[in-house]
Amino acid sequence: MRTAHGAWTQREGLLVRLEAENGKITFGECAPIPWFGTETTDEAAALCAALGGRVSDEQLDAINEKHPCLRFAFSQEHTRPAGAASDSIPVAALLPAGRAALEKISALSESGFRDFKWKVGLADAAGEIALLDDVLAALPSGARLRLDANGAWTRRVAERWLARCADYPIEFIEQPIAPGAKNSDDLLLGLANDYPTPLALDESVATASATHRWLQLGWPGIFVTKPSLLGDAAKVLAALPPGRTVFSSALETAVGARAALRLAFQFYAAAKPAAPRALGFGVWPLFNDARFDGPRSAPIVRLADLDKTEPEILWNALN
Ligand code: MG
Repeated sequence: MRTAHGAWTQREGLLVRLEAENGKITFGECAPIPWFGTETTDEAAALCAALGGRVSDEQLDAINEKHPCLRFAFSQEHTRPAGAASDSIPVAALLPAGRAALEKISALSESGFRDFKWKVGLADAAGEIALLDDVLAALPSGARLRLDANGAWTRRVAERWLARCADYPIEFIEQPIAPGAKNSDDLLLGLANDYPTPLALDESVATASATHRWLQLGWPGIFVTKPSLLGDAAKVLAALPPGRTVFSSALETAVGARAALRLAFQFYAAAKPAAPRALGFGVWPLFNDARFDGPRSAPIVRLADLDKTEPEILWNALN
């Protein structure tokens, strides 16, 4: 996979298997992304080794912010949410950057996608802005388009895009400015307040503490959240605004994705926004061994699709 951080050829992580004294077995996944501020896979593995083969609930509860992904792996009960309001949530199709997006749109709309995400910020802004008309014209009626700049823009470029987007029904623009850019907090808040197109934070809110910080700053836009990186994710999600939250993949295997997506179903069942925003989970097929992929890229994910994941098969494949 190509990302703003370069080519990502190997997804390292851990599967954890817990057997309770009553014999009940649960599986979880630790899927770190260290450049987003999580632990590394080696650090998580070292902590597992230190815990040993027998652990108490207290020991698992004591896994803290330094190991958010391992905490997530152990904190998920992986129970099917009861009484979910909707049994399906739409998925956003990922369009390639540049003109290549145009070739993908018709096949994706024919297979039923109505939510699209286009990667921008990879080429010269004038050329990409000129393409925006063509991309919008190629979309089926009723489609929604979100843009993702992955923090690639400067203030000037962001202002140019936002001035142009004001005329169009863009759902939101993700991470226009990098979290580490100079004065990025003020810049992001300023842009969010000065232009009509909603802005979304993704890289800026990768961890639980960063999410809480932006909630305290009164971020008026959207939160793109990756539950796998949040540690005790249910607690963080309870603080997020239902109408302004998008669930997103951390490129987990089916085990971690099932836990993250079940949290999304729980979130929407409890919060009941008018319509759930499309999931950022249009990532599969992703692995060489297809058994590790989650539900294949489809326009919707059903709660029932998640029940088909059999963690034991993945566990055995790794052992
Ligand atoms: Mg993003």
